[in-house]
Amino acid sequence: MVALDDLDGLLNGQKIAYFSMEIGVASEIPTYSGGLGVLAGDTLRSSADLKLPVVAVTLLCKKGFFRQELTSEGKQIEYNQDWVVSNFMKVLSQEVTVLIQDRIVKIQAWLYQVKSLTGGVVPVFFLDTDVEENTPEDREITSYLYGGDQKYRIKQEIVLGIGGVRMLDALGFNVRKYHINEGHASFLALELLQKHGMIPEKVRDLCVFTTHTPVESGHDKFSYDLVKDVLDGTTDMNVLKTYGGVDVLNMTLLALNLSKYVNGVAKQHQWVSKRMFIGYEIHAITNGVHSYTWTGESFQKLYDQYLPGWANEPELLARVVDGIPNQEIWSAHQKQKELMIDYANSLTKANLDYDVFTMGFARRATEYKRAYLLFSDLERLRNIGKKHKIQLIFAGKAHPRDTQGKRLIEQLFNYANQLKPDIKMVYLPNYDVDMAKKLLGGVDVWLNTPLKPLEASGTSGMKAAHNGVLNFSVLDGWWLEGWIECITGWSIGSHPDDCIENPDCITKEIADIYNKLEYVILPTYYERLDEWTRMMKNSISKIAYYFNSHRMMRRYVTEAYL
Ligand SMILES: *Cc1c(COP(=O)(O)O)cnc(C)c1O
Repeated sequence: MVALDDLDGLLNGQKIAYFSMEIGVASEIPTYSGGLGVLAGDTLRSSADLKLPVVAVTLLCKKGFFRQELTSEGKQIEYNQDWVVSNFMKVLSQEVTVLIQDRIVKIQAWLYQVKSLTGGVVPVFFLDTDVEENTPEDREITSYLYGGDQKYRIKQEIVLGIGGVRMLDALGFNVRKYHINEGHASFLALELLQKHGMIPEKVRDLCVFTTHTPVESGHDKFSYDLVKDVLDGTTDMNVLKTYGGVDVLNMTLLALNLSKYVNGVAKQHQWVSKRMFIGYEIHAITNGVHSYTWTGESFQKLYDQYLPGWANEPELLARVVDGIPNQEIWSAHQKQKELMIDYANSLTKANLDYDVFTMGFARRATEYKRAYLLFSDLERLRNIGKKHKIQLIFAGKAHPRDTQGKRLIEQLFNYANQLKPDIKMVYLPNYDVDMAKKLLGGVDVWLNTPLKPLEASGTSGMKAAHNGVLNFSVLDGWWLEGWIECITGWSIGSHPDDCIENPDCITKEIADIYNKLEYVILPTYYERLDEWTRMMKNSISKIAYYFNSHRMMRRYVTEAYL
């Protein structure tokens, strides 16, 4: 065990405390499920690079999210991802407690340090209830990410929000702002309210809230019966109802009412959120990704050569367009693509080819992402594939309790079989950040077909752009800001401003997918390599230079933290 005062310098000055239910700090640490956790990791990596005074709090997730295996029919099998915590982190001697169902639950913290080559360090505290004095049930609170039922979830959120504030106090941090990353962490505002004499203005001055969910049903809500059963009995229910909603405790509302600065994660998401929460001032800070992390090795070398310093100043990527010869862009891409194809072939029997147009789609397998949209008319797709060769690479985990998501994976396996031998298609098992780096660095086109307006931002297309990969996507989330038709990529379906009825909207989306593939994308790829490479450079210089987490963090600093 180490006491924090062994750790030089971490306590100096005022801190921004970033709270997130999931954080992907490293590929070996499986405490994330998807975009939210990876974004949190990129946030901290950029904070370390920029030497921002950030500390972070999350849950340990000792059993990981889960490791996915797929049977030959595409049935998902889930395994725990036990990982050896002490290989990566040190347990601290400070302990705090929270009251849950009138039991005292002890919490310890593990320290992980996100270290940058610039010398910046961001400490991350992983909260852990697996200590001897706790009951067996309480020891499990920090075992699973999004596991269990509502009761399990609210206990996790108590540990994160209330326990997290207490832990930072116990460690001796002086916190200037608490950043609530999604409503899971909103209980921290309740704890601050108790700490500051129930004066909401004081809490608001301290809190920044980022919402990530553009649908009502996606927000965490708990019945007051459950809240009364689980939460510390001294909590005044009337106070909670004042800020968290009268009928149920809505964690988003709690954060909205107790944060001075609130933002959505793209301009479109700000617009949607304003309509969902009438009367709140909601800003927009569009997400970004950590440039160095998400740029493949061949492109890293190219940028190092032509644009030294790009990793800590991704704005320099704007100069790619005039600065790097087409041929070098193409060969960097081809190198990364071949590595990816070798990798995919090592995992499957598909025998993919280096020189065939390859389109990728990988993200959480959940209904609104609509991985099936490309297959709406299999014969049309097959015929396009007969004209110009196509390969498809898919991946993604379904949440263990999302039966619809699991069926979706089986459905894709079925499509892959039906498309044989005209179109080669693989669904790779166990999508994670390591696989994401390979796929996003190596495909020719990255496909995204979410149901509007459910993609708050999306980030994987930004990762693709860092590698000159072209986006082909529904106009939702960040793509509305990154898209310039035939310059940075291609749109699918109508612009959200062109209000049309849902069924027509889907018809147009499907028509765009096939028509653009057949008449624009594939002919450009196979017949006009110069034009294709020019678009790749645009993807880097007009997307990656802006949609990175360095720009995002500078905006959080100047607009939300200071
Ligand atoms: C970036 C990333 C995501 C998010 O993908 P979206 O397409 O933005 O939903 C999910 N999972 C992993 C492993 C990622 O790296």
